[in-house]
This record gives sequence, C-alpha cells and structure tokens, in this order.
Amino acid sequence: MLQAPIFNLPKQAEVHVTKVNGNFLKLQSNYLFVDIARKVAAFKEKHPEKRVISLGIGDVTQPLVPAVISALHAAVDEMAQSSTFHGYGPEQGYAFLREAIAQHDYQKRNIAIKADDIFISDGAKSDLGNFQEIFDSEAIVAVTDPVYPVYVDSNVMAGRAGTFEDARWQRIIYLPCTKENAFVPELPKTKPDLIYLCYPNNPTGTVLPKEALKTWVDYALREHCVILYDSAYEAYIQDANVCHSIYEIPGAEQVAVEFRSFSKTAGFTGLRCAYTVVPESLQVQDGKGGNVQLKAIWNRRQCTKYNGCPYIVQKAAASVYTQEGQQQIKNVINIYHNNAKSLAQALQAMGLEVYGGVNAPYIWVHVPQKSTSWDFFHQLLEQAALICTPGVGFGKSGEGYVRLTAFGSKEDTAEAIERMRKL
Ligand code: PLP
Repeated sequence: MLQAPIFNLPKQAEVHVTKVNGNFLKLQSNYLFVDIARKVAAFKEKHPEKRVISLGIGDVTQPLVPAVISALHAAVDEMAQSSTFHGYGPEQGYAFLREAIAQHDYQKRNIAIKADDIFISDGAKSDLGNFQEIFDSEAIVAVTDPVYPVYVDSNVMAGRAGTFEDARWQRIIYLPCTKENAFVPELPKTKPDLIYLCYPNNPTGTVLPKEALKTWVDYALREHCVILYDSAYEAYIQDANVCHSIYEIPGAEQVAVEFRSFSKTAGFTGLRCAYTVVPESLQVQDGKGGNVQLKAIWNRRQCTKYNGCPYIVQKAAASVYTQEGQQQIKNVINIYHNNAKSLAQALQAMGLEVYGGVNAPYIWVHVPQKSTSWDFFHQLLEQAALICTPGVGFGKSGEGYVRLTAFGSKEDTAEAIERMRKL
C-alpha cells in the first residue's frame, strides 16, 4: 500500500511538536553588565568631555608575549607544508602540551599528575560549563556566594537548580563568603554531590589558605563529594601558604577535578586554550552499585562532542613553558600585580576596606556603611568617571561590595587612582 506523502501530515506549526528545553527559559537574564553599559552610556552623553576609565574590565589588556608570537608564526608556517601540516588532532590535546603541563605545573611541585590525566580545551569557561553534564541530573550542587555565574547557569540549563526565589535557586546550596567569615566558606549543613570552588577567587580576589582547602578536601573525601576546582587565576598567587593546585592536598586526586586556563596566565583570552585535570583515581558511583572512573566518562564525552584545540594554539601554549616564555609572562603579570597594589593602597587611603588584589587581579571593596553596591558604582561614575562592577551582580552576598580589576593599562590605572585621590 502506498504511504501517504509526508506533506499530507497535519501542519506541524499548529501542533507545536518541537518543544524547547524548558530549563533554558528559567535562566535569569544577566542584567548586570547591560545595566552598567546603559548607565555608562547615559553618563557619556551627559558629559561628553569626560574620559571614562573602566576598572570593571575582566579581560587582559597587555599583548601576547614575544615567545608566544614566535611559536604562533612557526606553527602557521608548519601548516603551509604538506609534510608538517596538521589536520584533526587528538581530542584530548597534543602530547607535547599535555607533557609540558604535567611536568611544569604538577610534577615540578611533586604532584603526581600525568600527561594522560590532562585534557586540553579551548577555554575553562566551556569546560566548567560542560563538566556538569557527566553527573546525575538530580545531583545537588554547592557554590560560593558571590560566584562566577557559569557554575550556576550551566546547572540551571541541566535542570538541577529548582525554582528561583528571593534571588536564589532553591535546589542550589549557597556558601556565603563575606568579610565576616574572612571569605572562607563554611562547610554546608546538607551534603552536596558537587562543590564548585574558585581560588584565587573571581570576583573577590581572595584565596583559601592551605588549611582551609584541606578542610574542604577532607570533607569531600568523608562525604564522597566531587570538588570542581577552578584555578583560572593560579598564576597570580604570591603567598606561600596558598596552594597552586588542589592536588597539593593529600587525597584530592580522589575527589577533585582542576580547571586551569592560559587566558589570564598568558593573555590567551582571544587565542583560547585551557586544560582540565581529571585524575585516574577519581571515581564516582555508576548507579548500579559499582564505581566508574570519571576520567573515562569525560574522555568519552570529549571524543563525542569536541574535536580539539587548534594545533597552532597548542604550540603557542607550549611556548609559555619555555624559559623565555615563563620570564615574559611573569613580567606581564607583574604589571597587573602592580596595578592591583596601587589601586588597593589608594582605596585604603580613602578609608575603604579592601580585600583581594594580592594573589589575584581583582580587588573587592567594602563600600561605606549604609550604601549599596550600586550607590558606590554611581558615586564613582558621577564623581570620577570611573567604572566598577557592583558586587551584588555576582550574588546576594556580594551586596555592599564592588569589584575593581587590575587589568587596565598602567597609565589608565594611575589616572584612575589620581581621580580617586581627588574624591
Ligand atoms: N573561571 C573564572 C573564575 C574566570 O573568571 C574566567 C574568565 O574570566 C574563566 C574561568 C574563563 O576562562 P577562559 O578564558 O579559559 O574560558
């Protein structure tokens, strides 16, 4: 019998066969940066003669260092010859980069992470956003508050967050970090499955002392949780009692995944390269009474959905580990450290309480009594033509703070300080 032609089927547009993933509709619009842009545009229109300086910028401003530029040129030339051309690379990244990372970032610090535990990618944001999908859809998530929004929103998309009430997702455990607890989150009262920790922290610029990090690793070992440890600002650590990697804590290799990036370490925000460490000994429940290696699952996910970071970019990232590469990126980070130091001193001289800025490019300022994050934002804009980021935009516990960044040029930072002094 002849089948009815497909165009004789009822009109699909009327029956709405295809439904969007409703979790995406739950996402709260991030009004923060839109609001800031709108207010700055209005200010500029009213005061065209004033040059506005942004201390809200979360991107690097210094160019790539010469070692990286040379590596890029050389890799581009390789792509021009059939004998050295590279097509699809390994999904996990090239061995030359995975080995350089294992050796320089881990083995040099006596951490037993192998090249095979390292997955190269095009950014920590994508890895942090993607990693949650290999866990159960009912998993309970804990985040610090204030928080880098990717951790929360990617779990909202996955349907793990519940409903949004009183500025919080009801199924997410929030761990407030304020000056009252010295920005060290307390252990949660109910057990999460996944814990996102970010140190050095964005937005507060604060760090966890080694003992506090050990408390979290011990908790995860005891309660069988997984820590997703975002260490995108590791290169800014200066204090000796701050771990460069969570795997400096014994047992962390059984409970933690570590995310690192070349973005803020070596100015790769536009080039895109990062890596995620999933140690061999990290196992989770398979839901059938047994355990499964997380690394194997992540590998399977990457091989299915990702085709690898470009060869030329991985060559550029490898050049960061050469002697000259290391010296050159250190010089750039010094510029940002000096900006942070001068900014912090100027704010303290204004009588403000200042946190962070030593082991991170971010300064977290407690605004004067009785004013809000937005009050302070308006004051800086109106009186000094400076832009900061209201802390409340990063979560409820960020109210009463603003974030300033050290990523501006040396000259702009110096001028911003001069304007603040005159306030
Ligand atoms: N994690 C944190 C805490 C960040 O602040 C950022 C970028 O601002 C990232 C991750 C993203 O890094 P990437 O540029 O590698 O995607």
